[in-house]
Amino acid sequence: MTVRVLRPATLAEALARLAESRCTVLAGGTDLLVRHRTAAGALPDLSGDVLLVGRLDALRGIARDGGALRVGAAATFAELLESPLVPDLWKEPFASVGSPAVRNVGTIGGNAANASPAGDSLPLLAALDGVLLLQSARGERMVPFRDFHLGPGRTALAPDELLVALRLPLLPHDRGVWWKVGPRRANAVSKLSFLGLAAVEDGIVRDARMALGAVAPTVVRVPQAETLLAGLRAVDVPAAADRVLALLSEAIRPIDDVRSTRAYRREVSLRLARRFLEEVLPR
Ligand SMILES: Cc1cc2nc3c(=O)[nH]c(=O)nc-3n(C[C@H](O)[C@H](O)[C@H](O)COP(=O)(O)OP(=O)(O)OC[C@H]3O[C@@H](n4cnc5c(N)ncnc54)[C@H](O)[C@@H]3O)c2cc1C
Repeated sequence: MTVRVLRPATLAEALARLAESRCTVLAGGTDLLVRHRTAAGALPDLSGDVLLVGRLDALRGIARDGGALRVGAAATFAELLESPLVPDLWKEPFASVGSPAVRNVGTIGGNAANASPAGDSLPLLAALDGVLLLQSARGERMVPFRDFHLGPGRTALAPDELLVALRLPLLPHDRGVWWKVGPRRANAVSKLSFLGLAAVEDGIVRDARMALGAVAPTVVRVPQAETLLAGLRAVDVPAAADRVLALLSEAIRPIDDVRSTRAYRREVSLRLARRFLEEVLPR
């Protein structure tokens, strides 16, 4: 079958193409071309039309939008890392994606739409309560990130929809951690990850968020555990750690696969959560 590569000039043209017929949407291609790779040097095995969306203006740019950032779905990780608008606490997960070459072309929208449980930007998008703007020729809708992933590789995107932008609230977090556990530092898919963010004011925890990656089909956040922390004196958080960890432990559902084991994932993710609660939050 002949593969046509379509380069729409505008979002409207791209949406019209998607409405007409099934296309494979390609932004940076770092997931897609690997997934469809054939023998070294040969063309990837893509059937049907390929719609290039990485250069569409509507999907690009990072801009302030009230109390949030509007990040175009085709913003690359390199662009996010270079942007002065992006808070430093958000940059660690972006910096841990692949290698400089991958970050130069890999996009945040591609990471979200690919829906790998190990996607490095996903715990952050979950922790921030990000909202995704999806558009098709039928109209647009805003989908909270927590409703976007239906399982590994499965999202709420309809076949004729594009992920156009992400709205990420700018929150007053003053401390945070991103720990990615992988086989090596670069170009490594994570075995598991932990993201913690907190705002502490006058010694009181005003807001605390924890998101665990690759320990369940989708990112795990446990609202009851976060509520338990809010309002505590930061120095009293270690005393509450066991109760918080019990809630996290109940919520995670790690599996055995080629990258790690269920037992390792459970043990290490809970240890990282404990470290956040005992060492980072009270600091
Ligand atoms: C060597 C290597 C190392 C890597 N290391 C990491 C890593 O450490 N951490 C990590 O998280 N990932 C890693 N990845 C995976 C990949 O780079 C990221 O997931 C990246 O963010 C994908 O973005 P992309 O633009 O290249 O997506 P693409 O490959 O273009 O697309 C991925 C999927 O999303 C869909 N899609 C893309 N954009 C849109 C859109 N706007 N609307 C609707 N659907 C869309 C595509 O149809 C496809 O199904 C690595 C990949 C490689 C090749």
